[in-house]
Amino acid sequence: MITALSDTELILIIVGVFYLSECIFWLPETAVTLTSAFGKLRLATSPVFLRRTNSQAAILSLFPWSRSLVAEDWPVAVSPSGISILFGPHAGHFIAFEDLQSVEAEKHSLRLNQCSIRYATSSAALQIATLLQTLKTSTVDERASLIRSAMQSRFSLSDFSARLENVERFTDSLRTISLFMFLWVFGYGPLLYYTVELRPGLLFRYFAPLGILWLSGVVLFAIAQRKLLTNSSSEQTGRVATLCFSPAAVMRAAHAITHEAFSGFDPSAVAVSILHPKQLSETLSQRLRNLLYPPSSDDPNESHSFNTSCEWYNELQLTTLQEMLTSADIAVDELLNPPIADYGALSWCPRCLAQYTFSSGVCFDCRGVSLQSFETDESDPAPA
Ligand SMILES: [Zn+2]
Repeated sequence: MITALSDTELILIIVGVFYLSECIFWLPETAVTLTSAFGKLRLATSPVFLRRTNSQAAILSLFPWSRSLVAEDWPVAVSPSGISILFGPHAGHFIAFEDLQSVEAEKHSLRLNQCSIRYATSSAALQIATLLQTLKTSTVDERASLIRSAMQSRFSLSDFSARLENVERFTDSLRTISLFMFLWVFGYGPLLYYTVELRPGLLFRYFAPLGILWLSGVVLFAIAQRKLLTNSSSEQTGRVATLCFSPAAVMRAAHAITHEAFSGFDPSAVAVSILHPKQLSETLSQRLRNLLYPPSSDDPNESHSFNTSCEWYNELQLTTLQEMLTSADIAVDELLNPPIADYGALSWCPRCLAQYTFSSGVCFDCRGVSLQSFETDESDPAPA
């Protein structure tokens, strides 16, 4: 026999659904999400059925005490001459600084003239908008120096450690409040409901601490947001208002901070600092290969300026990444080891590691990337 749900049970289910929705995070394809309830963070699961064109959903750890953060590659390549848009509906478009009329950050979007480029976080969109506004009024030489400086900050392990310490300091109490609120709502609440006869006095003793936890969570979130994030005051007010009406949002409030707080760092720097060792080598290897063996351009819509700008930016990222790996005592050569050859395989793609049954040619998946032979790869130097 099916028994109708009581109002209390219905409210608990609704709060539970909102809690689960807080654990799914939609991001552009340039973003990387790390999450864990125990120990070092791991890459968040992103199931195929939750992937869309230019975006994907990451499923975070459901545990209320878990941690998560987001880092992302810039979806634009910035060089002293201009900006190449790499992802999204305007991918392939180049805007010279002389033609750059307007630069604006609007929540998660960066608007360059009429082109809108989506970022994972509004903090990241604002950071790049500020940099581009400075570059726009600078000379070519100044631009090169400013971009290099910005790139070194993105890969700085010491800056990341300092940032992590600061973020932990402002979110520790918030995480504790979130945990107690979760236990109060989903543990103590049902226990009382199903085992004790509800009386007005008991209800007060249940809801008064819940109200105090809720209010404390909102206040701590507002303080942490103000101290750590750079998004606009109207956006910050909107988020605080959401917490005032959603207990599930309070239970995940620390995540809302940490998703934004590391937007200034490159995913590789984040990985070296806090990614689980089992995933670290593969992640760094993939990044290094992508930069060492960029696909050649055969898109007629991509101009010479677009490609030149991409090459300059790619080279800068590669140099900065290699410097960071060296400073972290990570051997670059070991990250570029060839894969173990499958039966019958004669060559492999140095970018995506796909294996082929012929000894030379180009990879089917990576435009123009030459295959390396298993017999000669050890003597083949990586391109400079
Ligand atoms: Zn390939």
